[in-house]
Amino acid sequence: MLASLLLFAAAPHGDALVRVQTPTASDAATVHELGLDVWTEVPQGPWLDVRVKQGQWAQLDVTGLDYEVRVPDLGPQVEAERLRLAGPVAHGGEPDPDAFFGDFADLAQIHARIDELAALHPDIATVIETGESLEGRRLPALRVTRAPEGSPTILLDAGQHAREWIGISSATCVADRLVRRADEPEVAPLLAAMQFVIFPVVNPDGYVHSWEVDRLWRKNRRPPDGVDLNRNFPVVFGGPGASDNPMAGNYHGEAAFSEPESAAVRDLAEDLDPLLAVVDVHSYGQLVLYPWGFTLDPAPADDALSTAAQTLSQGLGAAYGTPYEPIPGAGLYPASGNLMDWAYGDLGAYSYVLEMRPASDVEFPLGFVLPPEDIIPVCDELYDGLLALSEQLADTDPPGAGDDGGAWESTSSSGGSTETGQTTIEPPQGTSSSGGIEGTGAGTTSGSTTAAPRGSEGSSTEAQGADSETSADSGCGCTSSAGGTYWALLGLLLFARRTPRRRAVA
Ligand SMILES: [Zn+2]
Repeated sequence: MLASLLLFAAAPHGDALVRVQTPTASDAATVHELGLDVWTEVPQGPWLDVRVKQGQWAQLDVTGLDYEVRVPDLGPQVEAERLRLAGPVAHGGEPDPDAFFGDFADLAQIHARIDELAALHPDIATVIETGESLEGRRLPALRVTRAPEGSPTILLDAGQHAREWIGISSATCVADRLVRRADEPEVAPLLAAMQFVIFPVVNPDGYVHSWEVDRLWRKNRRPPDGVDLNRNFPVVFGGPGASDNPMAGNYHGEAAFSEPESAAVRDLAEDLDPLLAVVDVHSYGQLVLYPWGFTLDPAPADDALSTAAQTLSQGLGAAYGTPYEPIPGAGLYPASGNLMDWAYGDLGAYSYVLEMRPASDVEFPLGFVLPPEDIIPVCDELYDGLLALSEQLADTDPPGAGDDGGAWESTSSSGGSTETGQTTIEPPQGTSSSGGIEGTGAGTTSGSTTAAPRGSEGSSTEAQGADSETSADSGCGCTSSAGGTYWALLGLLLFARRTPRRRAVA
């Protein structure tokens, strides 16, 4: 079956990888708006790496931006991978479980692996069905724990972006390890104290598309050209670094949580109580990102978030010395409406994006198409990073939500979307009311307010008091279309709460 599917996989012969100089945020926004395929998720220099298809060169030239061709033809790289996977692929089970990770696995294989782990080890592993994708595919996550109900939870998700296969493989591999190594001393105490939930393929429709049609597909499969799920979350939905052009790679969709896949993440995360941390796995760049992504200004809990990011970074680098640089998520330019900002801003969790291998400056061809030999080492890195983070956070409370609406206001006119209020602002269907404020539109979009960190019952009164003031758990299901009034109120709240919300990690 695998081979027959792959007969239809397209190799983009003639597509080039180009480095475009984008000295300003406005230049970067221009490149996104062209509908070119931007590979640089988090710019670390004044440039973007962009895939240019045949017929798109004139579009690029018209911008007047300088560029250089890094890889004239990406086709051979994709074709080599396709041929390899079309041949006999070993995905062994017992007694050598790592054989499964000897090469990349398609969606059916990954789902089967998740199901199998739960079936083999029902004492510690349970499948959670979080919903269905736009095209009706399953969205399973695996809960691994020996801890009592109500223990703090770490959510590890991957595959929001379809082509980032190494993230999907390594997250699946981490689920596998947590189950199989549950009795080993490095992980047993963690499993006794906390819960791990691994959601390996958030965007299954896109992932299947990347296997069968376009290896370099990024978004989900919403017609006409997909929605970038990682711009479809409500904290500053539609702000800078998210496009309202449906053909752009960072198109944010019609409204926050308009997509069933992001809504599934929301429903899952809100159900995990208390939610201690969210780790959203991507590639590539070798980075550990922490909030905010929507603004260059520091988050209220910047100290706690960055300290834990250092720990994560050290864990990721422990096995092979691979550098993973911890930086605020906005990098040089903001990216609004992402999962990381929502998990922190609305749910109050420690929240990270990991950009796995390779680094953004290695010689291509690499990028999204990594050799299969990298799967186990990247799994080692992700596993070590997750355990290091878990150990550090085990006895702490979530950092509490915070929001920096004022900061967002001051940057709201630069780059990104300037849409004018046609966006709907209803909570998506089936939403619970605990998602906090879901303001959108008007180009001054929502911040979010804080949700009580659900694990804070036993925490200091300082944090608890602060969070309960505006707890979104009160069932407000708040929506707002009045950006100005909303921001004014939010600003007052934030001003009053800013200081007590800073809490250092023990
Ligand atoms: Zn990504």
